[in-house]
Amino acid sequence: MTAELTRRERDCLIAIGDNSTNFPLRLVELSRLMKIKPPSAIELLKKLEKYNYVYRKDGMIMLTGDGTEEYHGLLTSHRLFETLFVRMGIDEERACEAVSSFDFMMEKRTVNELMVGMGMPRICPHGKPINDENMH
Ligand SMILES: [Zn+2]
Ligand SMILES: [Zn+2]
Repeated sequence: MTAELTRRERDCLIAIGDNSTNFPLRLVELSRLMKIKPPSAIELLKKLEKYNYVYRKDGMIMLTGDGTEEYHGLLTSHRLFETLFVRMGIDEERACEAVSSFDFMMEKRTVNELMVGMGMPRICPHGKPINDENMH
């Protein structure tokens, strides 16, 4: 996890990763998904390009290798903390929302230690894989 990501940048990276399974995203779609105007989406993309997480080609937006790794790291952190929250009695939807506000600030080491401490859970409360090479 990169501590310097902002919440907006995190949401943008996740939107790109989540929606690139079949076809790469385009700016208009990204703006719509994030409920922001295209110029704001471009600003976010420029930041993510600076971190070498994203590149654009012929109007298509794609994650780099580093970006894919960061995206998977975010999903792992997100789903692990969701699992923890739900185990503690918080309902799934609220856990998802609450965790989104800090999952991107967690260091990889902390996530890994928590993972071991929690007994290596395989799926989050929504049934999504927590630490799988092919996760989406
Ligand atoms: Zn969630
Ligand atoms: Zn989940």
